[in-house]
Amino acid sequence: MKENKIPYKIYLEEGEMPKYWYNLRADMPIKPAPLLNPITKEPVTLKELEQIFCSELAAQELNETDAYIEIPQEIRDFYKMYRPSPLVRAYCLEEKLQTPAKIYYKFEGNNTSGSHKLNSAIAQAYYAKKQGLKGVTTETGAGQWGTALSMACSYFDLDCKVFMVKCSYEQKPFRREVMRTYGASVTPSPSMETEVGKQILKEHPGTTGSLGCAISEAVETASKNSDYRYVLGSVMSMVSLHQSVIGLETKTALEKYGVTPDIIIGCAGGGSNLAGLVAPFMGEVLRGEKNYRFIAVEPASCPSFTRGKYAYDYSDTGRICPLSKMYTLGSGYMPASTHAGGLRYHGMSSILSELYNEGLIEGKTVTQTEVFAAAQQFARIEGLLPAPESAHAIKAAIDEAIKCKETGEEKTIVFGLTGTGYFDMYAYQKFNDGVMSDYIPTDEEINQSLSKLPQ
Ligand SMILES: *Cc1c(COP(=O)(O)O)cnc(C)c1O
Repeated sequence: MKENKIPYKIYLEEGEMPKYWYNLRADMPIKPAPLLNPITKEPVTLKELEQIFCSELAAQELNETDAYIEIPQEIRDFYKMYRPSPLVRAYCLEEKLQTPAKIYYKFEGNNTSGSHKLNSAIAQAYYAKKQGLKGVTTETGAGQWGTALSMACSYFDLDCKVFMVKCSYEQKPFRREVMRTYGASVTPSPSMETEVGKQILKEHPGTTGSLGCAISEAVETASKNSDYRYVLGSVMSMVSLHQSVIGLETKTALEKYGVTPDIIIGCAGGGSNLAGLVAPFMGEVLRGEKNYRFIAVEPASCPSFTRGKYAYDYSDTGRICPLSKMYTLGSGYMPASTHAGGLRYHGMSSILSELYNEGLIEGKTVTQTEVFAAAQQFARIEGLLPAPESAHAIKAAIDEAIKCKETGEEKTIVFGLTGTGYFDMYAYQKFNDGVMSDYIPTDEEINQSLSKLPQ
């Protein structure tokens, strides 16, 4: 093993945990484009947003000026149950790859829900409770968001109604049972419980569902009950705000040991974990203090950044939510039924979209079988069994480390390892049996979906 003073796992002290979320938008010279009302096409007002989301969350969504927003004590107390999360130096992987690169990963899978999503779920449940609501509705793709939210809701004694993308509902029965154990009700989407669900089933009988479609069902259900609100696990700027704890802790831990990263990598579904990881580092770049390379890794089957268009689009298939300017494949895009459910979203965070458009973030696509090969390699070498979503970042980090080997550069690579793969064993089974395939959409498929973008 390499000689080094840096421990294998860096844990921060409780007192080093962030007391404020960092709102990257405050430091962006060009702000993300405003959300638009889907009917009037005018920028949404706080009042309109409050009809869908909790008031405090709606305010955070529109807040582009406060760089630091205090994390309420109740949320910090909950964070203490599983944070700070470890920042791990992947010594064994470095050794195996024979690379001069230093590789670190921030592991967010150390809580029962198994991913970073709990960081925002607990904040959203807190604000719903504070507002006196009875419960919340939501969608879940792979199941991580629903699991995180059901945990958060049970902590604050809120009702939790989850619409789960049908292919995940069938592939991941154990996720469903975790949610039910925490008291949530779980419905496969599209369902016959909502108007939009019925409509989609009529147009696409036999569909395995999509995140956009499940969002529509959850929004419709919340809008029919005045003491319920809809909550969302990614894409929205307020979710990226909550996820900034990932980046803030990473930065504090690295600074403690005098380490400066060169490359920061994360997988991108709706973009919240990546936005949270990069936030404080990107802030330094935007303020002209430092320079880093940022890489967003997405599945070849759902390539929003690399093959999508930067345009206003609906964030849900049912076209009820505000329009967001983002890299999108079109709200009607039905991604292939791959095993990284958390990355099957047609759009992308408007914050990351603006930064990508300015050339501050690079995009990279990887295929499903490459991702699982990297996941397996990582599990065998580092011992940790990653979520398929997280393995997208692993694959990109390994690629960069191999490049360093070729050039002899001693770069420091940091990547976000967003979750554990324990609930994805069906996918691993497919890979181990050699029956996993790759799907790359044709230009025609993407263009056809993009042709339906709102004008
Ligand atoms: C949901 C999820 C993702 C992707 O979501 P983002 O909003 O892009 O962060 C990545 N990894 C895991 C484990 C997830 O559950």
